[in-house]
Amino acid sequence: MNGAVAFWLAADALPVLGAPWLDADRLRALGRRRLSRLLRTAGRTGFYEARLREAGVTASSLLVERDPAAVLAGLAPVTKAELREAGTALFVGGRRRSGWRSSTSSGSTGEPFRVYYDPRAWATLKVLVKLRARRRCGLEVGHRVALLDAVPPVDASPDGGPAGRVARISVLQPPEVVAAQLAAFMPDAVYGPPSALREAGAILQGGGARFRVPLIFTSGELLHPGARAAISRAFQGRVFDVYGSSETKEIAWECPAGGMHVNADVVRVEIVDEDGRSVPDGVEGQIVVTSLVNHAMPLLRYRVGDRGSLLPSRCECGLAFPLLGVVTGREADMLELQDGRRVSPYALTCALERVGQVLRYQITQLDPVRVRVRAIPHPDADRAAMAEHIRAVLRTEVAPFLEVEIEYVDRLAHGPRAKFRVVEPLGSGARG
Ligand SMILES: [Zn+2]
Repeated sequence: MNGAVAFWLAADALPVLGAPWLDADRLRALGRRRLSRLLRTAGRTGFYEARLREAGVTASSLLVERDPAAVLAGLAPVTKAELREAGTALFVGGRRRSGWRSSTSSGSTGEPFRVYYDPRAWATLKVLVKLRARRRCGLEVGHRVALLDAVPPVDASPDGGPAGRVARISVLQPPEVVAAQLAAFMPDAVYGPPSALREAGAILQGGGARFRVPLIFTSGELLHPGARAAISRAFQGRVFDVYGSSETKEIAWECPAGGMHVNADVVRVEIVDEDGRSVPDGVEGQIVVTSLVNHAMPLLRYRVGDRGSLLPSRCECGLAFPLLGVVTGREADMLELQDGRRVSPYALTCALERVGQVLRYQITQLDPVRVRVRAIPHPDADRAAMAEHIRAVLRTEVAPFLEVEIEYVDRLAHGPRAKFRVVEPLGSGARG
């Protein structure tokens, strides 16, 4: 860790760790101040300077001070492809500075992208924001934590590394190996993608292991209700979902009362329609995120690529952080069926989760009327009855004309960086 990051960790620890206890008015005021400052910073990048100018705003304009949200709303949401094309025009001052930190986003779309952070933003987003959320869910200093990660096995440290407290376990290994390393480490908390946790959990449970992990944090993929229940059962622990993206870091996290709280002091979440206009709370649309604290490479109204909604209600836990509704899937994963009917991957998975004794599955669209379901059945399952059940739920809950091919398998293939796609729409290029 470099000195600047360590400095900001110490300097910002109290305010960042305390932000969840701000009341709604103070939280809004903090968000507004940060947005003003961010807009002025963005005006010092070639990319946003041009966009602000097109929107009729200069960074020094009074409007940036008075109503930053209105200025932001005037900017069209940006996609990862537009940002990648902008290159160094995204950097404040037009060039990369020494001391900036960076992380590369996932290759699940085959398009890696690197985001740079100033040391203060890095300390806040990579450490303090995560720490406060995990602590709220019961994680304590001294707990043994296993991180299931898509690192090559040689870079992993399944024995807990030199400090003995944090073990990094590669999910690129066979699930039996992942399960064995987890059992050997005996963590108090485990963190990983739902697909890998579900698979390792099923193996541990099947092997009759008396094994308990009280805290389970899932991220990186949609967490479906069936997967949540299976993981919780296998590890005999509580599952907390975390929603984020590599470009913005953690956006929202699940509290012990079950609310998905948006980290509103560091990110501003909007839900927009096809034209980039904000929609009211409760309405589903595309998730657009503005990262409020990064002054190296500002991201304003970034299209994360997922669909979801913001809830008008407050959480019973009392935190003022607003609530994110169910994230219903990647925008790119919407299936286009016969007659132009569009179906969310969430509709398919909700239907499939109703079929008992399916350990894992993957749904691949073959053409506008056909899908293939690859399923790993429970060893005791009646395969013929299960196939009938799968066909029936997909026809009644998704589309009556749907033809369904069913294939029983022992294993399902992962995509790049071990990101598992439960639903592959036509043309997603991931079939095999
Ligand atoms: Zn809550």
